[in-house]
Amino acid sequence: MKILHISAECYPIAKVGGLADVVGALPKYQNSKNVISQVVMPFYKNKFTKENKFIEEFKSTLKLGESEYDFRILSLENNLLGFDLFLVDIPELLFKDYVYSSDDTDRFLAFQIATLDWVLTWKKKPTVVQCHDHHTGLTPFMISQSLKYKKLSDIPTIFTIHNAQYQGWFSHEKVSLIPEFDFSKVGLIDWGGTINPMAAAIKCAWKVNTVSPSYMDELKQSANGLEWLLNDESAKCVGILNGIDTDVWNPEKDSYLLKNYSIKTIQSGRNTQKKWLCDEFNLDIEKPLFAFIGRLVGEKGSDLFPEVFRNALINKDISILLLGSGNKEVEEQLENLKEENKGSYNAFIGYDEKLSHLIYAGADFLLMPSRVEPCGLNQMYALRYGTIPIVRSIGGLKDTVIDISEENGFGICHENVTVSEIVHAIARGLDLYKNQTKFKKIRKQIMTIDHSWYASAEEYIKLYKSLKG
Ligand code: ADP
Repeated sequence: MKILHISAECYPIAKVGGLADVVGALPKYQNSKNVISQVVMPFYKNKFTKENKFIEEFKSTLKLGESEYDFRILSLENNLLGFDLFLVDIPELLFKDYVYSSDDTDRFLAFQIATLDWVLTWKKKPTVVQCHDHHTGLTPFMISQSLKYKKLSDIPTIFTIHNAQYQGWFSHEKVSLIPEFDFSKVGLIDWGGTINPMAAAIKCAWKVNTVSPSYMDELKQSANGLEWLLNDESAKCVGILNGIDTDVWNPEKDSYLLKNYSIKTIQSGRNTQKKWLCDEFNLDIEKPLFAFIGRLVGEKGSDLFPEVFRNALINKDISILLLGSGNKEVEEQLENLKEENKGSYNAFIGYDEKLSHLIYAGADFLLMPSRVEPCGLNQMYALRYGTIPIVRSIGGLKDTVIDISEENGFGICHENVTVSEIVHAIARGLDLYKNQTKFKKIRKQIMTIDHSWYASAEEYIKLYKSLKG
């Protein structure tokens, strides 16, 4: 069985969020289960492509409407990733120092066309093509409807929704960019009068999955306009919880950490990281450290942070550390908050992979008051590193965190995204911290929870097997 994953992101090549972590890990675990799992992604201009060597596998010219672009398919020379990686090099469109921008329609359409032009030349076709998020959402349509890809039309396709908020909408004026198809089928790519790649994928893929079961249920109620479509297509929709890459996210081996640790050495290991964080960010090591890592966007509840932090810090008996970037107004407010809360609050506005690992290994609690959370990887990393998650019960957070008030509970959950509920959840964290016996017991308990990819990779394989081309 040969699976081809098509994605805009893949860790460690290019990462904006959780999509990269998933595409960088799932294929590796699938390969350990007798499945040949490969990834194709754009060739961006970044550290990874600069520092590695590539072999040219294929070369051609693609048509995007009236324009023509030369492209190459490259593979990694010394592939140590655990799966075959292919990169689509279209110098004019994809070789940029960013992943996403305002010209994404043309860029990702060209990426998908180049990929399919190349797959068309394969002697043995992939058993399944798995497309990830809207950037690759027109692939199931093109495979099934574009005249030039007729030879691929019996390849089963899966569409994985990592985030349904972004759908890749573009105007029908650009329809000629899509390789020729029977125009009576144009309804398949339309949703509400615009071309909607995510809707097209939900309609055309053989199976659709979200990255947690609860997120699929929630999308049927609210999916940025696609809820009705998901209800209509529910027979082919499933939710499969993401896993985490325990080779990368392992406190015993993590090379970003100052001191590696296991359950047995948790106290000294975590203390080393916490001390470094407190020294670096001028925080008090004696106080419980609450952290946030992530994109500063509405979905993560980040617009409430300034008020939440101001309220939570009134008694100065906790510390708060934030790592993230996004909304400029929120960034500014979070910067301004530093002055009035010196010694108990700090923030690093930006993206820093190493710092994120140090925070997972040194903070006492991780805050995730998300409005929407398709799966959420941060809480699973936190659990593995012994950091107690404080989450809003939604999507994947609901599927992975049990409140301490319940039997075998280990996290702190709240129902709504309001300042008062988040502040109350932080206060519950402080209470738990004061009970050091219980706090330390839970810390050890969460490190044993297995969220590795093995179980989820198996579920994907079952899904592939249910498809007969
Ligand atoms: P999303 O994909 O919605 O952003 P996920 O929880 O699925 O959220 O994945 C987020 C991933 O991005 C995690 O690996 C997290 O550690 C990482 N991350 C997010 N923001 C930052 C940042 N500012 N610096 C370092 N890592 C970050």
